[in-house]
Amino acid sequence: MQHLLRFVALDKAMPDKRDPAERRHDFREIYQEFAADRARDQASRCSQCGIPYCQVHCPLGNNIPDWLMLTAEGRLAEAYEVAAATNNMPEICGRICPQDRLCEGNCVIEKGFSSVTIGSVEKYITETAFAEGWVKPPQPARERAQSVGIIGAGPAGLAAADQLRRRGYQVHVYDRYDRVGGLLVYGIPNFKLEKQVVARRHQLLLSGGVVFHLNAEISGAASLAALRRRHEAVLIATGVYKPREIACPGIGLGNVVAALDYLTASNRKGLGDPVPAFDSGRLDAAGKHVAVIGGGDTAMDCVRTAVRQGAASVRCLYRRDRKNMPGSQREVHHAEEEGVEFVWLAAPEALIGDDVVRAVRAARMHLSVADADGRQAPVPIAGSHVELAADLVITALGFDPEDMPRLFDAPELGVTRWGTIAIDFGSMMTSLDGVFAAGDIVRGASLVVWAVRDGRDAAEQIHAYLEAKTVQPPAAAAAAE
Ligand SMILES: Cc1cc2nc3c(=O)[nH]c(=O)nc-3n(C[C@H](O)[C@H](O)[C@H](O)COP(=O)(O)OP(=O)(O)OC[C@H]3O[C@@H](n4cnc5c(N)ncnc54)[C@H](O)[C@@H]3O)c2cc1C
Ligand code: SF4
Repeated sequence: MQHLLRFVALDKAMPDKRDPAERRHDFREIYQEFAADRARDQASRCSQCGIPYCQVHCPLGNNIPDWLMLTAEGRLAEAYEVAAATNNMPEICGRICPQDRLCEGNCVIEKGFSSVTIGSVEKYITETAFAEGWVKPPQPARERAQSVGIIGAGPAGLAAADQLRRRGYQVHVYDRYDRVGGLLVYGIPNFKLEKQVVARRHQLLLSGGVVFHLNAEISGAASLAALRRRHEAVLIATGVYKPREIACPGIGLGNVVAALDYLTASNRKGLGDPVPAFDSGRLDAAGKHVAVIGGGDTAMDCVRTAVRQGAASVRCLYRRDRKNMPGSQREVHHAEEEGVEFVWLAAPEALIGDDVVRAVRAARMHLSVADADGRQAPVPIAGSHVELAADLVITALGFDPEDMPRLFDAPELGVTRWGTIAIDFGSMMTSLDGVFAAGDIVRGASLVVWAVRDGRDAAEQIHAYLEAKTVQPPAAAAAAE
C-alpha cells in the first residue's frame, strides 16, 4: 500500500469541529480528536518534498516530514520521539500555533491542494503518546550540583526548565501566579487550550524534580539580586503584561476594561476561583452589547469569550481590513461562525456615556498606498462616523513590557528602547553576568512556539556558561597543583 504523496487523491480534512450552535454555550475545545485512520490518511498527504518549507517556517525547525511519514506508516511511538525531540510541548503547539502563518501556510502542496493538517497531526501524535504512557518526565542521566533559577512559568520558562533538568541541573521556577503556565492558563481561553493540558505538563516537570515556587513575585525584597546569590545562573522569562492604551475621550468611563483583566477573570471563573469582579458583573459580558477594539489574537479570544458568556451582541472594531489584521484568519472564521460581527476599517474616536459607556463612536478609515515595506497605513475618511451601541468595551491593543530594571531593583539590567530586556543574541545573556532572558520579555508580545524555542536556546546557553565555569583553564589548574 502506498503510504505517502496521497494529496492528489485525498482531500484535506481537519478533525471534526463542533457545531457553532453548540460550542457558543461552553468553553470546551472546538475540535474533536482525530480518529486514528483519519490522522493516518491526512499524514499520508505529505509530498515529502526535498526542501520542506513547513520545517523551515516552523520556529522550532520541527522535523515534520519524518513524523508525518511515521504516522502514515502507523509507527506512532517513533513519530512521537521525533516530534518531542525538538518541542517540549507539541500537544500545545499543535492546538494553538497560527499554522496558517507558519508550517501549514508554507506547505508546498498548499498551491493547489490545500496544506497537510500538520498541527492536528502533531496534537494527535502527542495525545496518543500521553494515552499510551510514552511521555516521560525529564530523567537526567546524572545529577549536577549547580542550580538555575527561572523567573516565570510560561512556555519559555517551562521549556528551559525541562531542558535544564534533563541535563541534571537543580531547577527552581518562581512565578507570581498561583498556577503554572503563564498566558497558557490565564490568557488563552479553554476553547483553544483546555487547562488540564497545561496542568499535565506541570505534573510531568514536578515528577521530574523541577521545584516550583508559586505566588512568588520577584520584586522588592525577593529581588533578582537574592536569586543571583542563590543560583549559579538565572533566567528571566516574565513575559509582557502592560496593556497598550488608546488615547480617546471617554476611555476612563465605567465598563471599559482591559483585555487581559477580562480574559483572566473568565479563565479563573472556569477554574473555580472566586472572582468578585466577575460576580459583580463588571467583567461578565452576559446580556451586554460588547465592543472589542483590536485585531490580534487577544481580540479574537475576547470576542469569542463574550459570545460564550451570553452577550446580547458582540462586535470587533479594527482599523485596517481583514487581509491586514494581525490575528489568525482561522480564528476570525471561528468567531464569525459563532456570531461575531467584524467592523473593519473603523477606529474609535470617542467612547460615549455619562458614568458608564453606552456607545463607541468610530471614524471610518481607508488604507493608504503601501510603503516600502508593503504596509498600508489606515487613514481616517474626513467627516465619516459610525456610532455603535456598547455597554461593555474591551480594549485589546497589545502589550508592552513592565519597567523591569525598576521591578527587579536592578538599574544595571540593560533594556532596549522598547523596554524589552536586551540580550547578547549569541549567548542570550543580559547585561548581568549569569542572568539570561527568553520569550516575550525579549521579543515583545509574540507566540508560544517562539517562547518554547527561546527557552530551549536559553537552556543550551546556560549549560554552556555553567560548563565553562566548572572547567578550570589550564593555567589556573597548573597553579593549583
Ligand atoms: C489572550 C492571548 C491569546 C494568545 N493566543 C495565542 C495563540 O493562540 N497562539 C500563540 O502561539 N500565542 C498566543 N498568545 C501569545 C503567547 O501566549 C505568548 O507569546 C507566550 O505565552 C509567551 O510566553 P512567555 O513564557 O514568554 O511569557 P508568559 O506566558 O507571559 O509567562 C510569563 C510568566 O512570568 C510570570 N511573571 C511575570 N513577572 C514576574 C515576576 N516579577 N516574578 C515572578 N513571576 C513573574 C507571569 O506570572 C507568567 O506566569 C496569546 C497571548 C494572549 C495575551
Ligand atoms: S510547532 Fe507550530 S509551527 Fe511548528 S510544526 Fe507544530 S504547529 Fe507547525
